[in-house]
Amino acid sequence: MHIVFTDLDGTLLDHETYSFEPARPALERLKMLEIPLVLASSKTEAEMRPLAAAIGIDYPMIVENGAGIVNMPDGNTEQDGVYDRLRGLLAAMDPALSRHYQGFGDWSDEDVADKTGMTLANACLARKRRFSEPGLWSGSEEEREAFAAVLEEHGFQAVQGGRFFTLMPKTSKAEAMARIAKSYTGQSDASVVTVALGDAPNDAAMLEQADIGFIIANPAHAEMPVSAREKAGFIKRSSRPGPAGWNDMILQLFT
Ligand SMILES: [Mg+2]
Repeated sequence: MHIVFTDLDGTLLDHETYSFEPARPALERLKMLEIPLVLASSKTEAEMRPLAAAIGIDYPMIVENGAGIVNMPDGNTEQDGVYDRLRGLLAAMDPALSRHYQGFGDWSDEDVADKTGMTLANACLARKRRFSEPGLWSGSEEEREAFAAVLEEHGFQAVQGGRFFTLMPKTSKAEAMARIAKSYTGQSDASVVTVALGDAPNDAAMLEQADIGFIIANPAHAEMPVSAREKAGFIKRSSRPGPAGWNDMILQLFT
């Protein structure tokens, strides 16, 4: 059986309008073939649920950039309380270090809307965190290393993204993809073929690890570098950007 894992912004969702309408024919094809579609994004569960409902799917979702998996059929309670543990660790840390870090949990919806350009309603959903804490670092590089070392000691990692310095468990979108594929392998006799779609460097590990990868064109970013997997033919590129490219690649694969 196939399972499709997809990034959202700039991949299934249009970079500008956030619409997935151009991908409707491919989404219908997946539905007809009963192929699970796993959304994998930096967004929170609260942000992704309405989207899954609009697409008409109810599969596991990789949320908060791989920090957590929600909606697993078998339930996965071992991840419960991750966010509270992270915030607790910040509260218990030497203030000489922690005072240089501010995250979504320190900010109001208005603050997050200001810092991200989101609407207030979306900022409210983005603050409903369960597994990771995006924020900003204001100390020195040396202090930042000491701060990251404390997190490391407690089983967390600090990842510098384009905008935010994010604290999360030591996992990733790629690792979450492997866990979900494994859970489906357990349920069926057929082996699982993983298909991944993404548009940016934070999808690279997922694209590399998938059996079949598609890089969706995004004219707003620099081109993704060509990897050995791509040279070997396991990764292909769409010519059209966003959901139109997504539609092309999925229909090509499943026709
Ligand atoms: Mg993206």
